[in-house]
Amino acid sequence: MRCNSLDFHVLFEQLIQKLNSQITINFEELVPYTTAVCRAIRVEKIVTTTYANAKLEALGRGDELVAYDSGEKCIQGLYRRIVNNMMNVIICRVYIKEGAEPWTEEEITRIRMYIETMSVYVSRSKITAAAEKYAFLDDDGYHNLRYIIRYIQRSMESGGLNGMAAIHFNLKHFSLVNQQIGRKAGSLVMLGFFKQIEHMIDDKGAAGRMGGDNFVAMVKVEMLEEVLNALAGIAVVYDPGSGERIMVSATAGVFIIPDGFTATDVGDILDKIIAASTVARTKGTADVVYFSSELAEEKEKLSRLQRLFPDALVKEEFKVYYQPKIDISTGELIGAEALCRWFRGDRLIPPDAFIPLLEMGLDICKLDFYMLDHVCRDIRRWLDEGRRVVRVSVNLSRKHMMDVDLLQHIIDTVDRNNVPHEYVEVELTETTTDVEFRDLKRVVSGLQSEGICTSVDDFGMGYSSLNLIKEMPWNVLKIDRSFLPVDGESENSTRSVMFKYVVAMAKDLGLECIAEGVETEKQVELLKHNDCELAQGFFFDRPLPTEEFEKRLDQYHYSLSGEAWGGKSI
Ligand code: C2E
Ligand code: CA
Ligand code: CA
Repeated sequence: MRCNSLDFHVLFEQLIQKLNSQITINFEELVPYTTAVCRAIRVEKIVTTTYANAKLEALGRGDELVAYDSGEKCIQGLYRRIVNNMMNVIICRVYIKEGAEPWTEEEITRIRMYIETMSVYVSRSKITAAAEKYAFLDDDGYHNLRYIIRYIQRSMESGGLNGMAAIHFNLKHFSLVNQQIGRKAGSLVMLGFFKQIEHMIDDKGAAGRMGGDNFVAMVKVEMLEEVLNALAGIAVVYDPGSGERIMVSATAGVFIIPDGFTATDVGDILDKIIAASTVARTKGTADVVYFSSELAEEKEKLSRLQRLFPDALVKEEFKVYYQPKIDISTGELIGAEALCRWFRGDRLIPPDAFIPLLEMGLDICKLDFYMLDHVCRDIRRWLDEGRRVVRVSVNLSRKHMMDVDLLQHIIDTVDRNNVPHEYVEVELTETTTDVEFRDLKRVVSGLQSEGICTSVDDFGMGYSSLNLIKEMPWNVLKIDRSFLPVDGESENSTRSVMFKYVVAMAKDLGLECIAEGVETEKQVELLKHNDCELAQGFFFDRPLPTEEFEKRLDQYHYSLSGEAWGGKSI
């Protein structure tokens, strides 16, 4: 039975509309449409063979596909070879019912129109698929943030966010991994770690890289635990030849999406997990932090502080306090550490209440330079007043490592105040390891060549400390308070033994060694006993306001027995 031309055009139009609504061709969805069109042109079966190019066609290497089959007994009635714009060769064999009247010219024209149209859509679909692939992958082969954003958007539209959790994770100590096995192997390890997580999530979510060692994943809540376990540590092979492996772990921020949650935009979810993840990474109390109302409060505190900070800086509400450093073999004042205090109205805000918050952004850098500038002004004044001056150390947050001109900024600040470099020392911590090791090395070496001393602050709190020490030209090692044995502690306690060896090691490496948090006479004795000559702590003085500290400069000597100076307690 032949159909009239109106039927064919209506059905063909419907098929085109359906094809236009698909991003990538979904043949199953198309079946009712192609069936209707094929019936209209008396086609019983279509078999296509696609060759990637003409060369493979000559070799007979192609993919055969039965694009349509009515199931009727049929014979080949038409053969067509099409080369599409991707240079694929498509051979179409079109079948007619056995014993049926041959196709008319008009029918043959329609059949050609049909198979050629289909081939255009198939190749366009392939291009779209390829374009999609590249749009959602970054240069290193990770799914990118666009991919995650699209996943969340699509889930939001279809109500699919219910029962899902969003995770932001950051690899722990990855700069040290790079340092240990080299950057190339490090990159392989990172990709290997990510692929394992992605494989685990499979089709129950999505994962992608935001940049650097920061990742985002969306997972079904029932598999959250499994994913978090993996983030706590997976061994990743970095040398397939020898099978050498390295443990990789991550800190994470998690937001369990509540039922009926309506996000105004994707950023709403990302903001939450990034905030939680930042706490996990910087606070160091837990490797996994869930987004909660307390966290929201913390965020509120942070934004309040960020609002207040510029004005407080202009009004010079921040004051420099100086904590003396003493040579316990002579009782001499040999230096001081500059520590920040914030006077807001009649309130004194201790650094612990604002420094960690400022460190979440870049404001800390402004504060550190403010401190350096004020310290330099004081040193210049003391020199001009003919006072005895000691080297003063300022704390520089690791956040500064992002500043490529850091070295020049420090030197400019010191030189602008006309202060000889030997009076300035920079304390850098080793606890945050997200910053590249080589940046730190560049800064430490640069300061060294400018005659500005550098010290490793809080030694013992961080990771792979020995590596850090060995590879860079530090001048001073500051042993963290937590490493200093307390009164009555056995000589054989882990802490006592560690303390002893750290002091010995520092000496071996030619570093000055100072113990922080010295509070008692017994501790002073212990330092002497271990050949650690330098000390800083409440036993001698708390951080002092400038005028108080100036008195110490003038007096210069400390009495080591019994009474400390009892400096003003802050
Ligand atoms: P930090 O660099 O380890 O500074 C030493 C801290 O130990 C100071 O706390 C000091 O008051 C305290 N301390 C000194 N001797 C003793 C002692 O005998 N016993 C005890 N229990 N504590 C002692 P502070 O001034 O509260 O500063 C806390 C932290 O805030 C500093 O730790 C430093 O990390 C940060 N900070 C302070 N000022 C600045 C600054 O200007 N810039 C930056 N980036 N960080 C700063
Ligand atoms: Ca310090
Ligand atoms: Ca310290």
